Amino acid sequence: MNSYKIIIIGAGMSALSAAVKLIESGITDFLVIEANDRIGGRIHTIPFQNSFIELGAQWIHGTKKNPIYDLTKALNLLDEKKNVAGKMHYATQDGTLLNEEFVDKIFRKIENIFDNLDDLIENELDDDSDENIGVLLDDGFIKILRKLKSNENINIEVVKAIYKSRCNEEKYESSCEDLRRLSAIGWNEYEDFDGDQFTRLKYGFGKLIEYLCSQIPSKNILLNHLVTKIDWSMSPVTITCLNKMSNNTITFNADHVITTCSLGYLKNHHHELFMPNLPLNKIKAIENLGFGCVNKIFVVYEEAIFKSLDGLKILWRDDLNFKLECDGKKWKLEDNKFYRALDNFEVLPNQPNILICFVVGRDALFIEKLEEECLIDVIDELFSKCFPHLNLPKPKHVIKSKWGNDQYANGSYTYIKTGSTVSDVKALAQPLKDTLFFSGEGTTFKYMSTVHGAYITGREAANRVIRAIKS
Ligand SMILES: Cc1cc2nc3c(=O)[nH]c(=O)nc-3n(C[C@H](O)[C@H](O)[C@H](O)COP(=O)(O)OP(=O)(O)OC[C@H]3O[C@@H](n4cnc5c(N)ncnc54)[C@H](O)[C@@H]3O)c2cc1C
Repeated sequence: MNSYKIIIIGAGMSALSAAVKLIESGITDFLVIEANDRIGGRIHTIPFQNSFIELGAQWIHGTKKNPIYDLTKALNLLDEKKNVAGKMHYATQDGTLLNEEFVDKIFRKIENIFDNLDDLIENELDDDSDENIGVLLDDGFIKILRKLKSNENINIEVVKAIYKSRCNEEKYESSCEDLRRLSAIGWNEYEDFDGDQFTRLKYGFGKLIEYLCSQIPSKNILLNHLVTKIDWSMSPVTITCLNKMSNNTITFNADHVITTCSLGYLKNHHHELFMPNLPLNKIKAIENLGFGCVNKIFVVYEEAIFKSLDGLKILWRDDLNFKLECDGKKWKLEDNKFYRALDNFEVLPNQPNILICFVVGRDALFIEKLEEECLIDVIDELFSKCFPHLNLPKPKHVIKSKWGNDQYANGSYTYIKTGSTVSDVKALAQPLKDTLFFSGEGTTFKYMSTVHGAYITGREAANRVIRAIKS
């Protein structure tokens, strides 16, 4: 039977939460169609060293009133072991080791600029302001610099490098490589749940995905089927799919369709995917909102050498050169300074032989394409030049995510770009004719870019469908 009351496109967090909501409401006449050969979407836990690593989502952001926290707690999936704070090594690219206390002090000063941003945006900007986060941060930093410049003992170039490093964190948290493209008003609409922002899961997010999947009959989930056309010109909607195993085309009918494709996927495919085309306000929203690429690099060592360490931070000074010897000698790396994106390496909790580093934007895309051996050589050279005192061995492996080239994600997560507003997010989320519904992390401005945002919007979309069926 190829007719369903509801078809859900995708089997990531948003789709599965919508499906579970339908089941809870007694509706079983639905099909989840997923292009990939696995469920989870941008949640991708892979087993590693008797434990796991997360190529996608890793932490639960906030514990109070966060449905993902509540669910994982009820399922006993939380890793509630407290981190014991270890030492951080800070060095500039010439191998100068910096005083940890001094660097932490400057980081705290810079953190104040971030802490004050909410109030500043709320009190000083109009709702339709096109101001960006980059400018506001720079303004705040200039004031700090002015004060510090009078102190002869402080190296201003190091202070600037610390500021740049903190900004890099903001870039990968928001998936936006240029903070001047991050809308201040949009940024301020994001709502944090209170409590720990970095709660871990004992077995990774994959176990939560497995749990949700276990609530859905297996006949209701179809993997390896790429939806290529959604014809919503008439009711029921006709969905055309490519069976990736047989290369055959198959069509389904549905009264209601929930699309959970990422904004990145919609940017690249909405014209060919929807027939007729989406309304102009939705297209404008798809085009205007930002969707960036954030990747993770896991640097794996033979031995657990980082037991008493939190991590290594390279503070890249603009006034100092750096020559990557392996570029030219062994590899041709286009000398584009991508390696300056490799700045913050944190020890993976419970796996003291692994460091994790986040990269964003064009550097992330460039690094995606590098061979493992090349990236090992680059990181090995960086560490031996920046942290010679540690005498680190050569890493054994480097594992990296490749969200930019992931053909069904087309990037990592959404942000409100300058020139777009929360109205674009609302337009993206707006159902069409009680027939087409949209969910996923990019359809909520409060919880954008998170697992809980995907979960909440999935359940909301299911509720809307249920109301449409009843009306
Ligand atoms: C590197 C990284 C780190 C992150 N870290 C965190 C974190 O620590 N905490 C946090 O809360 N969030 C984090 N996130 C964000 C979080 O992973 C996402 O917000 C969430 O998983 C998105 O879920 P979704 O259901 O909206 O979309 P997706 O998971 O992308 O699901 C959409 C699904 O649709 C499928 N699909 C697309 N097109 C088609 C088609 N044409 N036909 C059929 N199927 C299709 C895709 O294959 C995919 O499975 C991170 C994301 C990344 C990439």
